[in-house]
Amino acid sequence: MTNNNLQTECQDQFPHFDGKPGCALFPSGDGLTYNDYIILPGFIDFLPDEVNLETNLTRDIRIKRPIISSPMDTVTESKMAIYMALLGGIGIIHNNNSIETQAEEVRKVKRFENGFISDPIVLSPQHTIEDIIRIKEKNGFSGIPITEDGSLKGKLVGIVTKRDIDFEMARDIPLSQVMTTDLMTAPEGITLKEANNILRQSKKGKLPIVDKNFRLVSLMSRNDLLKNKEYPNASKDDNKHLLVGAAISTHPEAMDRLAALVAENLDIVVIDSAQGNSSYQVKMIQEIKRNYPQIQVVGGNVVTNYQVQNLIEAGADALRIGMGPGSICTTQQQMAVGRAQATAVFSTAVFARKNRVPVIADGGISSIGHIAKALAAGASTVMMGSMLAGTQESPGDYFYSNGVRMKKYRGMASIEAMREKGGKRYFVNKNDVLIPQGVSGAVVDKGSLTTLVPYLMRGLQFSFQDMGIRTVSELHEHLYSGKLRFEMRSLSAQKEGGVHDLDAYEDTNQTVY
Ligand code: GDP
Ligand code: GDP
Ligand code: 5GP
Repeated sequence: MTNNNLQTECQDQFPHFDGKPGCALFPSGDGLTYNDYIILPGFIDFLPDEVNLETNLTRDIRIKRPIISSPMDTVTESKMAIYMALLGGIGIIHNNNSIETQAEEVRKVKRFENGFISDPIVLSPQHTIEDIIRIKEKNGFSGIPITEDGSLKGKLVGIVTKRDIDFEMARDIPLSQVMTTDLMTAPEGITLKEANNILRQSKKGKLPIVDKNFRLVSLMSRNDLLKNKEYPNASKDDNKHLLVGAAISTHPEAMDRLAALVAENLDIVVIDSAQGNSSYQVKMIQEIKRNYPQIQVVGGNVVTNYQVQNLIEAGADALRIGMGPGSICTTQQQMAVGRAQATAVFSTAVFARKNRVPVIADGGISSIGHIAKALAAGASTVMMGSMLAGTQESPGDYFYSNGVRMKKYRGMASIEAMREKGGKRYFVNKNDVLIPQGVSGAVVDKGSLTTLVPYLMRGLQFSFQDMGIRTVSELHEHLYSGKLRFEMRSLSAQKEGGVHDLDAYEDTNQTVY
């Protein structure tokens, strides 16, 4: 598509306004990044609370918050995906693992019920007090349901809590001798409120939930009662289960992998490829749409109109935009191919919009302002890696480096991840020389997603208010009509827009949430 076509889609109906419309700024021929431009303010006649951040995730799915966690092995496994969905976004489970492991992670998200521990650790009557002590040391809890055969779905025969073993000195006593068998339980399908009432009245620490054959389904903990939060923005399917996505490659094993994920009721599949405009991907999208019409397919990654056209024609329900902007990414240096992210988002979004296909701005987001700028350039959602990798909900443990609490964060095409199979995305065979397109590093502790996401979203509401915009769709209408105005920032303007001329200051943007 030429610049002329772009202009027919994105017009300047307000030539008397300051600055430039998006259609004059972005297709200028230079590659722009989020830091290169600024959005000019609009008129405010509403409160930030009135800004509605609901958006299109794919052709058929809407979510309340425009955020997605990256399919990376240091970012998204079930815990991240659960909390992203509870908070109104969605997580994409990475595929740097076996088919069984990835399917299990999807299962955990789909089975998640707020307040219910859906996969409690269980033991059998033949296990011993020693086993409970070991669980306590490793996991921090000791309330363990006992099933006939020690399996999660086994018939519930008792429960052991710390009070049952407090005074027992001998660690080899079987649990059958200490467990309580006269149990207070609740039936499967009980609501969170009803279960909470039972727990409150029974004054017990745990409430096992069982099916009609007395098989264990889940567990509730009294100590979670006070922590139970409502998540009014949660992203859910028609059966009220959380939405989840998962990544697959375009390699031959991918269709087997997808079959296993679909069996766990996956909602969205992301075809994870650094350069998505390939015959492999086109074929794969067509095959998925044919075999699994209920699944939404995200194609990518792409950065040009030509690439977008091919994937939309193949049937993609959303597109992931970005080649090289990621914080851990070295593709542009190594391969000399890619595109500056803001230009990539604008160019692809214009064409995709005509086909009702939302685009996801993937990579390079390191502030609230970047989220706002990505949406203002036409993206419907943003995908983030480094921003979320330091939270409690990402995989991996914290460690200290120079007194700072950190978590590991690595590119999926870093040498380290490729050696653990991450090379799939980058077409690496076992005997190939490895050419990394990413690095391995660390990010600082960001606390819990349950405070980080509300912080980011509140900030985004303020940003929309400054633009005089109430919704994501209004933002896009203003972008394409030319009412939303932009300006390039000179290097000194960028300097002026940051903190400057101070001896010292504390960057509370890193710590306030
Ligand atoms: P306990 O009385 O020692 O079992 O521990 P608490 O009930 O005080 O706290 C256990 C915490 O761990 C709660 O927040 C649970 O939701 C959480 N948890 C996560 N997985 C499990 C599990 O498999 N079993 C138990 N008992 N708790 C779990
Ligand atoms: P705590 O976590 O150690 O304070 O223990 P709980 O309050 O869960 O349990 C106290 C005692 O009640 C233990 O001996 C349990 O085995 C026993 N108990 C009896 N029936 C039940 C039941 O239905 N659920 C639970 N959780 N404990 C029960
Ligand atoms: P971030 O949010 O950290 O800036 O970027 C995350 C995005 O970078 C991911 O969603 C993915 O698209 C991309 N990415 C992840 N690992 C690699 C890698 O090793 N190389 C490249 N080129 N991109 C990566």
